[in-house]
Amino acid sequence: MKMTFYGQFVAGEDQEAIKPLLRRNQAFGVGAVLDYSVEEDLGDGRSRTSAAEKEMGGAEKREERFRAHQGFGDHRGGVTGAHTYFYADEAKCDQHMETFLHCIDASSGSSDDGFSAIKLTALARPQFLVRFSEVLMKWRRFFHQMATEQGQAGRAVLDTKLELEKLQEALANLGIASKAESQQWFTGEKLGTSSTVDLLDWNSLFDSRTKLSKPLLIPNRKTGQLEPLLSRFSEEEELQMKRVLQRMDVLAKRAMEKGVRLMVDAEQSYFQPAISHLTVETQRRFNKSRPIIYNTYQCYLKEAYDNVTGDVELSRREGWHFGTKLVRGAYMEQERERAAQMGYEDPINPTYEKTNEMYHRCLDYVLEEIKRSRKASVMVASHNEDTVKFTLRRMMELGIHPSDKKVCFGQLLGMCDQITFPLALP
Ligand SMILES: Cc1cc2nc3c(=O)[nH]c(=O)nc-3n(C[C@H](O)[C@H](O)[C@H](O)COP(=O)(O)OP(=O)(O)OC[C@H]3O[C@@H](n4cnc5c(N)ncnc54)[C@H](O)[C@@H]3O)c2cc1C
Repeated sequence: MKMTFYGQFVAGEDQEAIKPLLRRNQAFGVGAVLDYSVEEDLGDGRSRTSAAEKEMGGAEKREERFRAHQGFGDHRGGVTGAHTYFYADEAKCDQHMETFLHCIDASSGSSDDGFSAIKLTALARPQFLVRFSEVLMKWRRFFHQMATEQGQAGRAVLDTKLELEKLQEALANLGIASKAESQQWFTGEKLGTSSTVDLLDWNSLFDSRTKLSKPLLIPNRKTGQLEPLLSRFSEEEELQMKRVLQRMDVLAKRAMEKGVRLMVDAEQSYFQPAISHLTVETQRRFNKSRPIIYNTYQCYLKEAYDNVTGDVELSRREGWHFGTKLVRGAYMEQERERAAQMGYEDPINPTYEKTNEMYHRCLDYVLEEIKRSRKASVMVASHNEDTVKFTLRRMMELGIHPSDKKVCFGQLLGMCDQITFPLALP
């Protein structure tokens, strides 16, 4: 059969037209990831996004990485390796959600155990994701600040445990919360059962569904002044949070009904804390008996291993299935340029080799978890031959069978095709 350029890269124009190809691939053990690939018009978008980004700056003192910068007002700038969206309004987000629902339906109709991919910048106002990310990072940084004060600087993230007694004293001395108040913080199901608080306990104080509007003051390390962490969350932002969670719920419910796994793509690092936080909240609700929601981890990030190990540990503690797609990361040039121009630390590993090491370290951790608990699943989303070989070798060493569906390989073919084990053999 003669293969044309169009035939190579386009599976079909609509839900019906792609079915024969998907069926043929399925016969060879190749599944599909349906990824909505319509690009928005750039021209009009640039100016409007820039204006909206300027609006975020305001008088408030912002963390450099999460500050608006006119030159990067359009987060799509220079990105060729991933689909990007421009926020117009909430109605447009609803429209994107409808399209994602069609993709889920199409995935379920055309393959067993299908995948569908979504992007949160299509479902939420990017400015909101940046702001929420900043809040989450401040919250995490405050934990590390407390850890340094308790003489625990430089420990691995899950080995850092604050002594509850000392923490409560520090919070009282800083005027953040009296001992009686902070006692309330640590009385949840999982908190306060030991005399220590780790980063996961600390993060769980921050539940977007219930506690977002709670005003909280944290000290600014530079000025020593107490600053509100959340007080600038306006009513509109609260609503934006509610809406994005609702959209994710609608998509997750449909995916569950249709037996489709939903992958949440990773995007720029200044959106990523919020994207990951919202995804983990959805995993907590929908991955109780099997992995419906897959979170994506970008191994070019210096913090990737901490993120993967932290979330695996959270899934163990809370008893849900850890679904993950591991990628190296698609936004390197843009990330580096933005960090250099705005004067904050480059979030990307210094070399390609370091990214490779990070990828294999994260992957190894997840494969060990599959072996240990059978409650983790991974898509190895990479075209790198060494990574595919590494995965196969480690699977063999760990006794994970080659046809085990807990591990699959993902590659991009114009549309995003998931290649399961048989065809991925090197
Ligand atoms: C199925 C699928 C889904 C994907 N989903 C996402 C997603 O949700 N989010 C996302 O960001 N990307 C996503 N990607 C893209 C992915 O992150 C990579 O950009 C792409 O796959 C190339 O990496 P590789 O492992 O295939 O190949 P390789 O050629 O081995 O790796 C190239 C990658 O290495 C890293 N790198 C290169 N040079 C350096 C350097 N000097 N220093 C540090 N790191 C370096 C960069 O991440 C670069 O993209 C996806 C890819 C696939 C196949």
